[in-house]
Amino acid sequence: MKALTLSAEWAPKPGYDLTEKERELRRPRNANMTWKGPRITLGDAPDPSLKPDQVMLAIAAVGICGSDMHMYEAGEDGYMVYPGLVHTPNIIGHEFSGRIIEVGAEVKDLRVGDLVAVEEIQWCGECLACRRGFVNHCLDIEELGFTIPGAMAQYLPVRAKYCWKLDEVAERYGEEEALVMGAMVEPTGVSYQGLFNRLRNWLPGNNVVIFGAGPIGLAAEALVIAAGANQVIVFDPSESRRAFADKMGASVSLDPTGIDLDEAIMQHTFGSGVDYVVECAGFADRTIEPLDRCLAVNASIIDIGMGGDEPTLPIVAYKRMGVQYAGSLGHAGGPFQQVIRLMASGRIDMRKMVSARLPLAEAPAAFKRLENRQDAKIILQPNPL
Ligand SMILES: [Zn+2]
Ligand SMILES: [Zn+2]
Repeated sequence: MKALTLSAEWAPKPGYDLTEKERELRRPRNANMTWKGPRITLGDAPDPSLKPDQVMLAIAAVGICGSDMHMYEAGEDGYMVYPGLVHTPNIIGHEFSGRIIEVGAEVKDLRVGDLVAVEEIQWCGECLACRRGFVNHCLDIEELGFTIPGAMAQYLPVRAKYCWKLDEVAERYGEEEALVMGAMVEPTGVSYQGLFNRLRNWLPGNNVVIFGAGPIGLAAEALVIAAGANQVIVFDPSESRRAFADKMGASVSLDPTGIDLDEAIMQHTFGSGVDYVVECAGFADRTIEPLDRCLAVNASIIDIGMGGDEPTLPIVAYKRMGVQYAGSLGHAGGPFQQVIRLMASGRIDMRKMVSARLPLAEAPAAFKRLENRQDAKIILQPNPL
């Protein structure tokens, strides 16, 4: 089958402390400290085989994520930008949908022909974090498209327990559109997890600030609008991304470069300040850290963006204003169902952020095109829908 593979050289930075297991598996917690000279190649890979608890998918749609870009891009030192768990060589791609073409002997609720979206986080269900319900923080985690083969390929076997059916969306929009939307359940689920499953204090009527109008920020925007937000202020330095934010219904979209964030936020919240801040840019040192006067009493800050930044947060201001801060990671443990329902009901339509649908053969060109961050989401289609 055709597949897109990420490779890099194993060159741990001097002084970076690797555990025995990280060294042995070449699967470091911090890819940006060990993998040098990342590159992607489109080529032939062996056809995968099926285990009894898996279904085989013909991949219909797979989005290119900011994380994919950060695995593909090198910083000034030549090392991979992405700061999380990565093994190479590996087939990447983790935001996807597909049609089931084969079902393993132990699978109960899925049939050949079903359309599904699939969780990227391969949580074990048995570790202490999973048993307490925090599956996104699984202690024995594998990540599809990061540590094990992903979906920028024609076929992928996945365990049935990570699959969520798209039939409700197909009922409303037809199969082809449901499969494109299905590829956006994962990134939208990341935003959902941060907004509604971490602090669990969302209120309709909130004033919201979103940093970063990439796909996660745009998904957060769609979700807070569906959930009854008041003012929705989106910051992004890219003009074309601000245009996506406007198209998706932002009250205002602003270039944060060189402006006083506190002042701008106070102005656009009519002096009452922000209740929900959502960091989807990965630059908390330049987004969350400067915020002070614009935080409303009891404001919430949700930090999702991962950019290798090392912010110093104004904890004293947080105490004074009764502010809560939550980091958020992942999309598993429930958001898939909610996001699929919001799509099926027409409350959110993530197709508005898709700027291109391309065959897998054009993947290398699509990565190149995304380097300047002008597009929002590009969807690759490895098999005809
Ligand atoms: Zn992603
Ligand atoms: Zn676990």
